Amino acid sequence: MDHPRIVIFDTTLRDGEQSPGCSMNVSEKLHLAQQLDRLGVDVIEAGFPIASDGDFEAVQRIAATIRRPIIAGLARACTGDVDRAWQALQGAAHPRIHVFLATSDIHLKYKLRISREKCLEQARDAVRHAKLLCSDVEFSPEDATRTDVPFLCQVVEAVIAAGATTVNIPDTVGYTMPEEYGQLIQTLREKVAGIDKVTISTHCHNDLGLAVANSLAGVQNGARQVECTINGIGERAGNASLEEIVMAMRVRPDRYAYQTAVVSEHLYASSQMLSEITRVPVQPNKAITGRNAFAHEAGIHQDGMLKNPLTYEIMTPQSVGVPDSRLVLGKHSGRHALALRCEQLGHQFERRELDEVYRRFVVLADRIKKVQDSHLLELIQDVVSGAVGPDDVTGQNKKFPPTAVALPFPRAISAVAGANGNANSDDTHPAQISGSAGQEQARPGAAPANWFGRAPVPLADHHNEQEDYLWGV
Ligand SMILES: [Zn+2]
Repeated sequence: MDHPRIVIFDTTLRDGEQSPGCSMNVSEKLHLAQQLDRLGVDVIEAGFPIASDGDFEAVQRIAATIRRPIIAGLARACTGDVDRAWQALQGAAHPRIHVFLATSDIHLKYKLRISREKCLEQARDAVRHAKLLCSDVEFSPEDATRTDVPFLCQVVEAVIAAGATTVNIPDTVGYTMPEEYGQLIQTLREKVAGIDKVTISTHCHNDLGLAVANSLAGVQNGARQVECTINGIGERAGNASLEEIVMAMRVRPDRYAYQTAVVSEHLYASSQMLSEITRVPVQPNKAITGRNAFAHEAGIHQDGMLKNPLTYEIMTPQSVGVPDSRLVLGKHSGRHALALRCEQLGHQFERRELDEVYRRFVVLADRIKKVQDSHLLELIQDVVSGAVGPDDVTGQNKKFPPTAVALPFPRAISAVAGANGNANSDDTHPAQISGSAGQEQARPGAAPANWFGRAPVPLADHHNEQEDYLWGV
């Protein structure tokens, strides 16, 4: 595999967090950053340190804790911002200062009220200042896709001369089209002196639903970093979706012969964790991580899937980490099964923490027959925050109801095929499952319905598992 390597720059914690309803506190950001680290992203944009004390602290804590990826802090093109970003990044193993300044005439005239000459000078000076502090400097000409192309080339050339190592070309307003954006990247590569020494990056917004297509067009024309977010969250209509970018390259290497370091099996857990933290559910038909992404409804599709999943499935649910729906947790489940499920949901625990999760799990499982992912996520949340005792797990002080969490996939067809090879008709349609709010799952204390709408395979059937049933003994 010598396909060109694409740097995945995750901006869920910065651009994503700017989207309505998606704000996160410091510990939530740190928790998500740990998941992004597991996911294998190359760069984590942890925040915009000058924006608030909370942002500063989040960047600082992530920089001090997460050691493998590059940690980026955003700064406007001025000394105060750059210094503040650098201050927050002090503890980072691999810090990056990300400087931005708008370059389109419309932004220069109405927002910044400066001339092109002033803009050029300010961009150059800010990058030069950042470079004195940090060897890794990224520059973004905001609203690049609506910037006069010769002027954009001039700015990019100036910031490269001033020391920028990555040049990002943002489609800030989600205005560009794939061919046009690809052409822009191509033009920069042809016209800008020194551009071959830096990494060109994409940053595309989804106002016309083209963020992923535009990013891929950028890559095909020489961009080697893609800025994106989990679940595609971000300003307005969002940013390019990380999971879609990664899987497009993985499923179609014949067209997109590039590789990333993302461990695709962690995509689902990452998506779930973000949804859990922000309480913003994933749209059911969201590509890759929506709960219908692997559900098959039409009879002819079901028939084809049972004969051979390749008929309608271009990737397996396992390849993006959709949990095995056959594993149902109940009070006879052991620590191993619990730990595995926690991991699938994006939570890894030390032995002592797992003991606590398990202890609470047993109390809960004693009351309700099957512990659903949503219950487990709640319980994990309690253990992580240290908020409540084990007897409160099904009590009144829940931080969020089960319905606030996106449900796992109703992987109807292939789960049946995988479990017993039987085409039985007990497959409940996903829509029925998701619309069953009034059913058992909503009644505390009652045996909750299986999300998947069928009788679970009992854990006793997992003969080969060496279960450790006793949590504290
Ligand atoms: Zn953006």
